[in-house]
Amino acid sequence: MKTATVNKGKETKYLNQYPLIEEDDLYAHDHLKEGDLFYLVNDSGQYIATAYVGRQHKGIGWVLSYDKDTDINVSFFEVLFTEALEARQYFYQIEGTNAFRLFNSEGDGVGGLTIDNYDGHLLIQWYSKGIYKFRYTILEAVKRVFDYTSIYEKMRFKDKAITGGFVEGEAPAFPIVIEENFTYYNVDLDDGPMTGIFLDQKEVRKKLRDQFAADRDILNLFSYTGAFSVIAAEDAQSTTSVDLANRSRALTEDNFGLNGIDPKSQYIYVMDTFDYYNYASRHHKVYDTIVIDPPSFARNKNKTFSVLKDYDKLIEGALDILAPQGTLLLCTNHSGLSLKSFKNTVKRTLDEAGMDYEINEVMGLPKDFKTHPHYKPSKYLKAIFVTMN
Ligand code: SAH
Repeated sequence: MKTATVNKGKETKYLNQYPLIEEDDLYAHDHLKEGDLFYLVNDSGQYIATAYVGRQHKGIGWVLSYDKDTDINVSFFEVLFTEALEARQYFYQIEGTNAFRLFNSEGDGVGGLTIDNYDGHLLIQWYSKGIYKFRYTILEAVKRVFDYTSIYEKMRFKDKAITGGFVEGEAPAFPIVIEENFTYYNVDLDDGPMTGIFLDQKEVRKKLRDQFAADRDILNLFSYTGAFSVIAAEDAQSTTSVDLANRSRALTEDNFGLNGIDPKSQYIYVMDTFDYYNYASRHHKVYDTIVIDPPSFARNKNKTFSVLKDYDKLIEGALDILAPQGTLLLCTNHSGLSLKSFKNTVKRTLDEAGMDYEINEVMGLPKDFKTHPHYKPSKYLKAIFVTMN
């Protein structure tokens, strides 16, 4: 077994179960290759943890075990998957939802690996070459533990030679229809990096429908397949979905159709968000709820947008077309932006605009996206409902 020695002052961090092994914390790491298992030791050679090499974020790999005698084999993953499955029994039992996360990387004990259940069709996502090297072992454990109709996979690392897609089982005809909080959505597990729905936002979508949709005109920016619009539409006065990508129009129309809502009764614009702000102000459009759920980075022609630098501009633009006593739903999934600094950006921008407001809800990940108690970035999702007085 290879070993890697932790720098003097950094030992406590790992003894306190920080799961991501950061390059700067090691004396040397050139001997560690993707997919290697190794013992993390202190500078007197004492064992701290067993880890694997899988480069991701600032990390060189993830801790798998704190017991030197534990072998990393099929039964190792089987035990973790069984625990994860037991913790998700609630989701199998509730009505109106049949898609949720079964295994959430470091939160469930293996950084770099997620498994989602879309009504019996499983999606495994590999976040590094290193974890992908355990593919056969992990697949064997997946098959032993989870019930499934089919298994698909996606690579979250770059490698021209490896593509994701069908793994095994009965391949469905995509899109399949999944249900979440009694709303239907199309899902395709075999089409590019996204599936049609972001399962981590399910509680935020529900909150929007339950408290901030009735009789309102709702604007959904960065709308993708219209998930926020679709769940809100039944109770809303109107929904308007705005996304830059051409494909978003048909995908959004189809999702409305699945729920018995005539897509023609709703507004859909294929447009840049900032262009839409200009268009909407020129036409004196006003919205009671504005949903802003952008990607962390985006590029449109020669302009770039970054959540870290430009979120204030998104809020300012929205305020120009927000009705009195209107609500903003502000989201980000950037793991490098803490809840504290996101909240500060929101407050500072609203204060500088002279708004009097109340924060109604601050939400994070749902229970199936289990997070790691000693690794803050695992709580990457932040969603704030704020209403103007
Ligand atoms: N809010 C969505 C997920 C957003 S995914 C949901 O709840 O499902 C990010 C989306 O932002 C993509 O569909 C992408 O096409 C869109 N996008 C990226 N840059 C944009 C821009 N400048 N204006 C509008 N949409 C943009």
